[in-house]
Amino acid sequence: MTARILDGNALSAQLRGQLAERAAALAARGVQPCLAVILVGEDPASAVYVRNKVAGCEKAGMRSIKDVYAPDVDPAVVFARIAELNADPAVHGILVQLPLPKHFDPEAVLEAIAPEKDVDGFHAENVGALMQGNPRFIPCTPYGVMQMLKSKNVPLKGAEAVIVGRSNIVGKPMAMLLLAQSCTVTVCHSQSKDLAFHTKRADILVAAVGRARMITGDMIKPGATVIDVGINRLQSGPDAGKLCGDVDFESAKEVAGLITPVPGGVGPMTITMLLTNTIEAAERVAGAAK
Ligand code: NDP
Repeated sequence: MTARILDGNALSAQLRGQLAERAAALAARGVQPCLAVILVGEDPASAVYVRNKVAGCEKAGMRSIKDVYAPDVDPAVVFARIAELNADPAVHGILVQLPLPKHFDPEAVLEAIAPEKDVDGFHAENVGALMQGNPRFIPCTPYGVMQMLKSKNVPLKGAEAVIVGRSNIVGKPMAMLLLAQSCTVTVCHSQSKDLAFHTKRADILVAAVGRARMITGDMIKPGATVIDVGINRLQSGPDAGKLCGDVDFESAKEVAGLITPVPGGVGPMTITMLLTNTIEAAERVAGAAK
């Protein structure tokens, strides 16, 4: 059996077309959706993510602001800038690219962003709203995964969903979203015993760990939907330098029913959902201004 591919690039292109239409409709009402991105330091991966986010805005007809700070910047400077962006009515979404240098308290930074502009959905108020089943902004990566499942009509009600990874950014919000759709959810982590026992029961398996190819075909239930969130750069072997996921694609695709590739799976969807959240924030402002 060879799995069908869940193509994140194709779905992103379709959704971004719809976003461009929404951005144009807002512009016609005098509101240009605007995302402000703050990057601190010189982490090359972060720089690429920020560049892609800014380029995504431009292509969708949205405005973006990019502020880059030296790695040793005084946190007070960044807090002052966040306060300025919070107060600027022309800015609808604000995100601070993670990770931050060690002399920053990342939680304090995320809490400084106005909840109604927190398009990453990481502010405690927005995490709480998601937990209560009444989200204001859904964190972009899990939001993208839900869109991918929806696009293929993957049955969710009563499905066994297993998530490997419990981060605040991916694993935990993913669990909340699948639970809200009446999946039976198991969350595994580094202390879980017998990982394969859990993964083999999964109708929907989400891998969000950061360990190259750790989920192999023999850990997957035949016909399962496998979502690979992981992004890893291989350090050695014949594929050294290439990107790969947490799932061993070659063995997994022979067992799974539906599978996301890396690259070209969840990655492009994450940025698409960031743009979606920014448009939603702008639409709320425009609605309130009517
Ligand atoms: P974190 O490092 O924050 O979390 C990793 C999780 O994996 C932790 O909960 C950890 O458990 C768990 N874990 C580690 N080792 C094992 C193991 N051997 N067995 C089971 N669980 C394990 O990572 P993120 O959630 O931020 O990211 C995960 C991956 O997804 C990374 O590769 C990242 O690059 C990628 N990513 C991709 C995105 C995209 O757009 N496609 C967006 C965000 C992330 P514990 O809590 O016990 O330490």
